Order: sequence, then structure tokens, then C-alpha cells
Amino acid sequence: MAKRVIVRGGIISTDSDVFRADVVIDGEVVSALTTDSSGVEADEVIDAGDLLVVPGGIDAHTHFKDPDPNEIEGFYYGSLGAVAGGISSVVEMPQATPVASESSHIMEKIRIGEEKSLVDFALWGAAINQDLESIEEMIDAGVVAIKSFMAGSSPGFPRITDASMYDVFALLADTDIPYGLHAENDELLQDGIATLQAAGENDPLAHADSRPPVVEAEAINRAIFFAEETGARAYICHSSTVSGLELVRQAKERGARVEVETCPQYLALDTDDLVRLGPFARCAPAIRERDEVELLWSYVQDGTMDTIASDHCGYTIESKEAGRDNIWNAPLGLSGIQTMLPAMLDEFIHKRDLDFTDFVRVTSTNPARIFGSYPRKGTLRPGSDADIAIYDLNASWTVTGSDMLHRNKWTPFEGKTIGVRCVRTLVRGATMYEFNGEHVIHGNAGHGRFINREYGTGG
Ligand SMILES: [Zn+2]
Repeated sequence: MAKRVIVRGGIISTDSDVFRADVVIDGEVVSALTTDSSGVEADEVIDAGDLLVVPGGIDAHTHFKDPDPNEIEGFYYGSLGAVAGGISSVVEMPQATPVASESSHIMEKIRIGEEKSLVDFALWGAAINQDLESIEEMIDAGVVAIKSFMAGSSPGFPRITDASMYDVFALLADTDIPYGLHAENDELLQDGIATLQAAGENDPLAHADSRPPVVEAEAINRAIFFAEETGARAYICHSSTVSGLELVRQAKERGARVEVETCPQYLALDTDDLVRLGPFARCAPAIRERDEVELLWSYVQDGTMDTIASDHCGYTIESKEAGRDNIWNAPLGLSGIQTMLPAMLDEFIHKRDLDFTDFVRVTSTNPARIFGSYPRKGTLRPGSDADIAIYDLNASWTVTGSDMLHRNKWTPFEGKTIGVRCVRTLVRGATMYEFNGEHVIHGNAGHGRFINREYGTGG
């Protein structure tokens, strides 16, 4: 007999409904939702009275970097950060050593993930101007999406040429596989950096000034155009500007196959945080001014924004400190997998009066739909994986790096107070993480399972 667990008494939200129910879990899957489970025998009862119970978060954009000789992050520590924030699966980016651009690299990442990860994981493959056959072979190996950089921005990950990018779009046109783009215009970007450096501007705001919204919007425009010309599906990573999102909104109205992501750093932080944290807030695109941040929320509200993902990129403290006196010396990327969902729930529910269903839609259901794991993931209904995050909506805590479980103990939310805490995360029926005043890890490395694009329909 499979172990039976009951999550009793919580407020449940899916992407469409909020209701009170007990969740009955048999083994790895939800077997029933019932208003009264008092007569049901169980091996374990989790008391969720007054807590929020939602489908586990799916982080569509995370960098665990394995294989990683530089100890930036890895499947083990990265997934500890994930479960401590309510994330039960990730779609992991191809930055690694080497960059995952061939099927042999994908197979190696699957092996490492299945050995080390606590959360389920899907994989992105990289398009870096290689032959299309390599991309087809990565798809055969099970990647759920393909990623390119339109600008030179990530060490070791060459930017794609327009010609190669067009070819990849054409290759993917007959599939549902999203083509994810880091959308920034390379020439505008390099020119912006060179101009500011030549003027001796080395302070944190020079970073933001070097890549203003037009740098991003132009590239989004080009990506949408290629997607519409070929009929393929574009996924715009980490959007941060109104001008770019307006292009996406219009494209969606025309029926283009385009989806768009943003990150907590573009919805909750602003240039004051960039000034305050310096290198520890340097990322690409840059963190924006408060007016832009506020306007971004209207695209979350009206449904234009499809997903919120962390873009977790946990560089070492040492490497970030190198940019203390000269912002250009700090690597681009923020660690954020642990803080993402509590910080976003705090914004949605306490600060902006959005609905639980909106939160679930962009952090779980939409990523599951876009990357092929719906309805086994991204919802809570009989037959779904019992991937569950439980939140205390009245638990205020002040974020500090030493509280992070991912490998490198720093956070761009340093010093911020968040009014929501993740108190438990289940991955396929098993509690991986619990907060009882302290972090408690119950799960083992290797619990995580590789999920391919057919996972949602039983493959
Ligand atoms: Zn990224």
C-alpha cells in the first residue's frame, strides 16, 4: 500500500478557484479533495488550518549550472533553496561547463540532476549557432525548450546571430517547443557599456544607464517578428520594460505564439536597491526605476505576463564583491530561488490586492502548460502529482543571506521584510522541507525526477 498523507484544513487555491478542502494523497499523487477527511485513515496528517495550500511553484528559469567546477550553484544546494521557498520543480537553464548545446551534455545533466536534486527538473538546451542537428538531438534527449542570447551577456554562452536564430525558429515551427530568448540588442548594449566606461562611470547606476529599455524592446520586437514569420513559439525571458511588454501584448492580440516571463527583481526591487546593494543587484536586464516597476504590474494584472521565474544565478560572494568599487567587474545575475515565491505572495496578497488564483497562474499553472507538464503539475486535482507548497500568510521575516539554503549565502532582498513564509513543500507526496522556527530538510538528494515534454500527458 502506498503511503497516505492528508493535508487538512487549509485554504486551497488553483489558478481558477479558491476553496476549503482536505487534500488526500496516495503515494505520489493527489487521490481526492474532500471537505471532510475525518473518517479517512492516513499514515500522516499535515495540519494546514489557516494556511494557504497551492500547487508547488515551477521555476521556469533557474541556473543550477551543473556540471559546475566554479561552485556557483548546483542541483543539490539549488534545490534546497527551491524547496525552502515553495518550489517543487524547475526548468533548468543550459549554462554549465560546457554549455549544454549537445545531447551528450543533456544526458550528463540528467544524470547529475537525478543524483542530486530534491525537486523535479526539466531542461533547456542551448542554441549557440551550432548545426540544427544538434538541436534536434537535444530535443530527442528530452529538453522542453531551447534558449539563446541575442546579446553577448553570459560568459561562455555565445550570442546567437540573427541568421541562426531565424533557422532555430524555423526548425521549431512545427513543434510546441518554446524558443526562449534573452532579448537585448547586442550593438546598443555594447555601445552603452563602452560609452559609460569611457566616461569613467563605474557606479551601480551606470549599469542601468548602459542598458535602457530600448535595448530590450528592440530585441523583443525582432524575436516576435521572427516568431510570426515562421509560426514558431517565442518565450521572452525576464522582461523588465513597459515598451517590451506592450509589444508582447499587441502580438498576443494578433494571435502570435509568444509568451513572456518576468522576475521578482523587476516587480519588487528598483534602482534604489541597485544603489544600495551595488554588485549584488547587478543583473541583465538591469533593475528598473520605481515608475517602470509599478507599471509592470499592470501586465501581471491583465494577464499579458505568463510567468514569474527567479533567474536564480547564485554567483559566489567573492565574485560579486569584485564589483564593489567598479560595477562592471561584477558578474550579471542574482540569487533568488528561495525568496521568489514568499516575496511575490507578499506583493500579490498584502501589497496589491491581487488574487491567490493570479499568483498560482503565473508561478505554477502557466509554466506547467508552457513547458509540457500540465495537468500532472501546475494544479491540484485527483491524478495530479502531489506537488504542494504551504504558506503562512501572517509570518513576517527579515531576509538575510545567512538564512539562504542555496550554495552562496547572499540575496538581493537583503534587509527586506517579507510578510509570508513557506512552511512546507511536498514533491510528489513527500515532504522535502518544513519550517518549524528553523529550516528542516526532510528530503534526500536524488528524490527529483527528470521530466520531459510529454510528462503532462503521461510520457
Ligand atoms: Zn538567466
